[in-house]
Amino acid sequence: MEGVLVTGVARAALEGECVRCLEGIDDEVAVNFQELYVYDDVRHDSSDEELDDEASKLEGDLLDLEPLLRDAVVLALPFQPLCQDDCPGLCVECGARLADDPDHGHEAAVDPRWAGLQALKQEED
Ligand SMILES: [Zn+2]
Ligand SMILES: [Zn+2]
Repeated sequence: MEGVLVTGVARAALEGECVRCLEGIDDEVAVNFQELYVYDDVRHDSSDEELDDEASKLEGDLLDLEPLLRDAVVLALPFQPLCQDDCPGLCVECGARLADDPDHGHEAAVDPRWAGLQALKQEED
């Protein structure tokens, strides 16, 4: 009676970067949405003015889906997108992508202040 109830599913392509390793991500989201678009002329008859200002309105026989779609899709976006759920990220020493090279590792770095002792130890060995 007050307007048109719009219900639907939107599918959108996602493109982004993994927050841990910066690998490119191509994915897809599907979101359900529902919104009541009220007739423009019932606006003034309503007793609830505040709610009315935020309500979506029909423009004649047309309705504008864009704000509805944008809000629905943005809410469905992952806050911290990952290339895989357990992405190990990047090596803190050389920046290599650990998912490509799980056994990646470095010799434990020697604190330069102990380097002299290490030389001494090697001499003893
Ligand atoms: Zn990643
Ligand atoms: Zn490394």
